[in-house]
Amino acid sequence: METVALDQDAVVSRTGDQIEHVLFPESGSISLMIDMASGQTVATAAVGREGAVGILAVLGPLPASNTAIVRAAGVGSRIRASHFRAAFNQSPAIRHAVQIHVRAMMAQFQHGVACNALHPVEARMARWLLQLRDHVDQDVLPLTQEALSQILGVRRTTITLLMRNLRASGAIRSDRRGQIEIDRSRLAAATCECHGNMRREIEEVFSMDTPPIPRLGFGG
Ligand SMILES: [Zn+2]
Repeated sequence: METVALDQDAVVSRTGDQIEHVLFPESGSISLMIDMASGQTVATAAVGREGAVGILAVLGPLPASNTAIVRAAGVGSRIRASHFRAAFNQSPAIRHAVQIHVRAMMAQFQHGVACNALHPVEARMARWLLQLRDHVDQDVLPLTQEALSQILGVRRTTITLLMRNLRASGAIRSDRRGQIEIDRSRLAAATCECHGNMRREIEEVFSMDTPPIPRLGFGG
């Protein structure tokens, strides 16, 4: 494993590129993004210290199926995909950890699909802000309106309008120079059920029969 800095707005991997590393964020937050031919983008998941980017490389050499962008700076550890694959094949504990991770990601994808189809964009924006808040542990979020527009797949003008509404309700305290200060409880009141449901299900997945993971030498 090597330690890497996760710089704000850095692109960790791009759709179609070979997955070279599996990255484990220790702090900060990374968005997984789908890019459309039109240039539009939308986020499908947020990965923080509970997860990893590029973990499907355990299935074999694969191109990345999304673009991963750092939304909140932090640090992480990464390992070459081939080394992680070897460790996965040798270690039942690592296979178990990967299994838990995949189930947690599936939960996030499923709730995200339902939310995107059924809930208004203001509730979705509040959900993303709360997810980011879960990863950074502070109420000042390092987000620009441009980043929010990419995450939600809506125009900047829509974001401006949504910010105004959330400010009026007190869910957003301030928004300047790429920093959005939130009021967590008011934001929770402004969002749909999905953030809570997603969080509960992911916590359940992580709390289920996790065996002790032994220390492992990765070799190389
Ligand atoms: Zn929702």
